[in-house]
Amino acid sequence: MSFRLANVAGRAALVEGDHYFDLEAASEGAFGPDPMAAIGGFGALHEVAASLGGRTPTGTLRDAALESPVPAPISCFGIGLNYADHVAESGMERPTVPVVFAKFPTCIAGPGAEVAIPNGAIDYEAEVVVVIGTGGHHIAAKDAWSHIAGVTGGQDISDRALQFAASPPHFDLGKSRDGYGPLGPVLVSVDAFDDPDDISVECRVNGDTRQSSSTRHLIFSVPVLVEYLSSILTLQPGDVIFTGTPDGVGMASGKLLQPGDVIETRIGTVGSMTNPCVAG
Ligand code: ZN
Repeated sequence: MSFRLANVAGRAALVEGDHYFDLEAASEGAFGPDPMAAIGGFGALHEVAASLGGRTPTGTLRDAALESPVPAPISCFGIGLNYADHVAESGMERPTVPVVFAKFPTCIAGPGAEVAIPNGAIDYEAEVVVVIGTGGHHIAAKDAWSHIAGVTGGQDISDRALQFAASPPHFDLGKSRDGYGPLGPVLVSVDAFDDPDDISVECRVNGDTRQSSSTRHLIFSVPVLVEYLSSILTLQPGDVIFTGTPDGVGMASGKLLQPGDVIETRIGTVGSMTNPCVAG
């Protein structure tokens, strides 16, 4: 059975419909409260999710203080230029190997976190994010999905001024300001998707649709990214991969983020998260 894993005020919880169930209680102590440990033991989450039917929910999702479902990954990877339409709007060459940068894990934030806007060059990038459940070195593409605990939504918030202040650009710092990696609202197991290589991704700013695509258009698919990254380094449980953003970013249209803007990120089957922009 599929599962939807949330982080409610720092405690792992499973979501069913409008309710959540504290994982430590629902698993009768098999799991503790740590969301990262839950991700590392994701195989057993399927069984706990299947047992929720007879239990009393801990609370309603509407009233829950949701934090990042993946609060503390060891590594957090970003993939640049991974949709052809975004490559075109960026005026770049189509990559022949994945373009990889680090989003330092201190940028991770919750699904309702505020995004600080220190200048006029802050951009949104809606992305499908996959989270490693079983780590490994040299994971073959055909085995990649079995190593993934689940899928969530992400915003690869980018300070274009900072990104392009250096030459060649430093993607890492430009995309790693505190709070520039909102994730959520929940982590959804791979078996919940009809086709995990065809997940919709959409971004709205103040209700205006800016980005709309699907991971079926990725230049380097999730299995290829996992094979590539793990051919170089050992992936760890809880590691996060932002798989790239489709076309429609503010840098291309001139519609960059301003204080008061509200960013909504919608990922198929996962749901949506809403991040307000504030001066700072
Ligand atoms: Zn990105």
